[in-house]
Formats: sequence, structure tokens, C-alpha cells
Amino acid sequence: MFISFFRMDRHLEKMRDEIFSSFERVFKSGRFISGEEVKEFENAFSKSLNIKYSLAVSSGTDAILLSLISLGIGQGDEVITTPYTFFASVGSILRVGAKPVFVDIEKNGFNINPLLIENAITPKTKAILPVHLFGKPAMMDKIMNIANKYKLFVIEDAAQAVKASVMGKYVGSIGDIGCFSFFPSKNLGGFGDGGMVTTSVEELYEKVKLLRNHGMKERFIHYITGGNHRMDEIQAAILRVKIKYIDEWTEKRRKIAKKYIEIFNKEGLEDFITIPEFDGSQNVYNQFILRVKERDELKNFLLKNGVETAIYYPLPLYLQPALLYLGYKEGDFPQAEKSSKENLAIPIYPEIEEGEQEYVASKICEFYKRRNL
Ligand SMILES: *Cc1c(COP(=O)(O)O)cnc(C)c1O
Repeated sequence: MFISFFRMDRHLEKMRDEIFSSFERVFKSGRFISGEEVKEFENAFSKSLNIKYSLAVSSGTDAILLSLISLGIGQGDEVITTPYTFFASVGSILRVGAKPVFVDIEKNGFNINPLLIENAITPKTKAILPVHLFGKPAMMDKIMNIANKYKLFVIEDAAQAVKASVMGKYVGSIGDIGCFSFFPSKNLGGFGDGGMVTTSVEELYEKVKLLRNHGMKERFIHYITGGNHRMDEIQAAILRVKIKYIDEWTEKRRKIAKKYIEIFNKEGLEDFITIPEFDGSQNVYNQFILRVKERDELKNFLLKNGVETAIYYPLPLYLQPALLYLGYKEGDFPQAEKSSKENLAIPIYPEIEEGEQEYVASKICEFYKRRNL
């Protein structure tokens, strides 16, 4: 038995014909930039997420960068964010010249802890940038209350959380602006890089639309300084096919997650394995993450038994070599540090077979039974 962390082959096989005919459509159109495919994909995305405006861009990272620029965030501004995520959020804050201010994550979760946010607010704070990590919504009700009280913008990094919801809304449509990624390993993945900016504010929509295309409204007339942050027609054409299946895949991921939780609880592993608490939000499980003290031993044991796993993420952002100059140090955010040592992502993808999932779960149970002897 060998169970890969992800099976792109299985994922794509059943869409083969549809994807090849989308290639053919773009091939025949001869138009590869800023055409109908991008427009239609934006429409489909807005419709699926019940969002007013969607703008397709070149990556999730660029979605965050353009969001910050469109809100006028730059030199002298502070942005409150999480120390435990992929580098893109903090990298973008720094690239616009602003200062990232980290706030630790929840004790039994992976997202920014709203109870610690108010303490980090200064007169320079302009925005809060929560990340819906691994597909689980951050505590948006509390975050929005704080943002309203202090008149701060909220930029949602929903790169891993397409179609996750909380407070009756899809994430990415709750704050001022939402950022999505179509990196191949995301729940809605393309054949390369791609991203989306979402908003219900017309002014922000107009701004991002200009920013992604060198500030052009008419050909070669530039109103502001932007860049080339467009999505290609070929990516949009593929994503138009894939978005039709997103609800089906989400249901499958949730079902697989539910089964893992049931098995671990039934085997009495709740003392060893911490799984983020259920709080009524709709988690879309981009990853299924265990928090286990003996992470490296378990990872090796599973690999020896043919189960591939992954670590997200091994080092909190403020301890990254690139960011040491910010002056944070080890011990500053204990929950983020604990998570980086204890996290282990196990296979969860819509195409995993029941027997394969049971095998993964049984090996994890076996590991703990052996240790107990
Ligand atoms: C993937 C990811 C991004 C960046 O998206 P890209 O499309 O790879 O640029 C940003 N934030 C998070 C949390 C991500 O997982």
C-alpha cells in the first residue's frame, strides 16, 4: 500500500475531455490575454461565492499585494496579521512598505487569536489581515467587531479556503477585500499560478482593475501606476471547468474529515491528537492537520508504512531568515511555535478511496497503541 499526499492524476482524469475542449476553445479564439474566458470565470466565481465583484489576477500573492495597494496601505502603516501561515501575506505587507505586526494564533486552532488583537493596535494600524488557514474560517465576527470599533480595513487571505463560510457568508466576502489562490494544490487549482481579488466596494474594484493592468483603461492610456498582474485566458478556461465541481469536492473533503475525526475519537486518541475545535463555521479542509507532540516520529512511522504526509509550516514567519531584522525572537508567540513543531498534514483529497483513508487512520492508531505498551 502506498498512499500519496495528493493524486493529481485521479483528480484530473474525469475532467479530461472538458479540459481538452477548453484548450481547444482558447486555441481557436487566438486570444490569450484579457478575453472572454477571464470574464466568464470571474462571473462564475462571483456567482458561486455570492460576491459582487471578482477580479482574476496572476496569483494569490498578487491578490494580496493589489489589495493592500488599493486600500492605500504603505510606508508608515501597520498591518496586524498572523505569524503562522505561508509567507505571501507578510511578504506583501513588506513589499508595499508597511510594517507587519504579528498576533499569536488560537490555542486549539491555527488562526489569529482575536482576543489578542486589540493589544496590538496603535495609531499607525490601518488593517487586519486574517488568514483562513487550512480551509477553516478565522473568527470573523470578533475580527469585524474590532475592525469596526477602530475603523480598520480587513483583508481576508482566503487562499486556502474557497467556499468556506462563517456568519452565513463565504470567506472573502466578509471583510473589505478577499484574496484567493488557484495554485495547483488549493481546493480550486489551475494548471499553474492564478488568483482572485473579491470585494463589494465599487471603488476598490475599479482600483484593482487598473492596478492589475498597468493602470490602463483605454489602450496605452495609463491613469495610475500598476503592473502586469493579469490571469491568462488558458488558466481561466481551465478554472471555468473546475469551478463546476467545487461544491462536490468540498462535500467530499468534509466527509473524509468527519470520518477521520470519528475514527480518532472512537480509538480514544483525543489525548494525543488535537484537532481544531468545531465552532459552527464551515471548514473546507484544504488540509487535514493533526497536532501531535511526537510529530517527527509519527511522520517517519507513516512513511515507513507507505503513507505520505506533509508539514505546514515548519517555522513561524517571524523566525524566518528573511524577517529576523523585524526584531521578534523565539518565545514571542508560543502557540505559533508549538504549532510549527506539532503539525502534521495527512492525506485528504476528494479522490482518496475509502480503503485508503481507513489504512491511513489505522496506521495512526497503531502508532499510538505501540507507544502505549
Ligand atoms: C497559497 C497561498 C498564498 C499565495 O498564493 P499563490 O497563488 O501561491 O501566490 C497566500 N496565502 C496562503 C495562506 C496560501 O496558502
